[in-house]
Amino acid sequence: MATAIITGASQGIGACIAKRLAKDGFDVAVNHYPSDSDREKALAVAEECRAFGVKAECYAADVSKFDQCEEMVKQIKADFGSIDALVNNAGITKDGLLARMKESDYDAVIAVNQKSVYNMMKFVCGVMMKQRSGKIVNVASVAGLYGNPGQVNYSASKAAIIGMTKTVAKEFGSRNINCNAVAPGLIRTPMTDVLSDELKAKMLDAVSLKRFGEPEEIASVVSFLVSEDASYITGQVIEISGGLSM
Ligand code: NAP
Repeated sequence: MATAIITGASQGIGACIAKRLAKDGFDVAVNHYPSDSDREKALAVAEECRAFGVKAECYAADVSKFDQCEEMVKQIKADFGSIDALVNNAGITKDGLLARMKESDYDAVIAVNQKSVYNMMKFVCGVMMKQRSGKIVNVASVAGLYGNPGQVNYSASKAAIIGMTKTVAKEFGSRNINCNAVAPGLIRTPMTDVLSDELKAKMLDAVSLKRFGEPEEIASVVSFLVSEDASYITGQVIEISGGLSM
């Protein structure tokens, strides 16, 4: 049985990806931030994954921390035997215009959204290299492609992920490791629930399909990218934004 790790999978897009990959037949390692409330939510996600007849376990780790990622990847390899897919999904926002953005808010977003991807790919690629196979999907954002006012930290982190995706695709292609990114637009999750109705309406103006995307619409593309159907796709960024830019 193939094994997938999904980071930040206690809710939102990550939880949805975990359940979709379980439905696809992957054993699933559900990463969550080390807090009691995240643990509780992650346990419920793992339970839903097991309903598809696969193995699913929860792993607490702050993915912005190098040592915690190393420990978690070691544990998952020991528990599952292989690591066949990695989805770097964990992310946060701390929005503010550049002139007012605090240094701590810049650093926090870079650490969680960008450094985490380095941490996880570094340890997981070691395992995949020995297996001579693996699929990595990094969850970027349209903000990393086009920028977004109030998100200099977030768009920097997501643009970096795109560069890292292309680099890892080039470094590990000869080892049969595919590395791609998805760039979601406006998706209905706890991250966007906090936006005001006025701002949501304004943002939807730019979306051709005139609606928010659903987490399932990200999970289905990730499902494809980690499948053998996507075996000749690497180093690509798939925009999933309802036609935000054309
Ligand atoms: P979400 O509901 O806030 O989920 C993010 C998950 O990541 C949460 O479970 C969160 O835990 C976890 N997380 C945060 N920091 C972590 C850390 N240091 N270690 C481990 N887990 C951590 O947001 P979402 O909308 O599903 O976003 C998922 C991904 O999609 C993110 O990378 C986001 O940037 C990207 N994205 C989302 C949208 C959108 O419109 N929703 C658009 C483009 C890209 P806590 O709840 O404890 O923080």
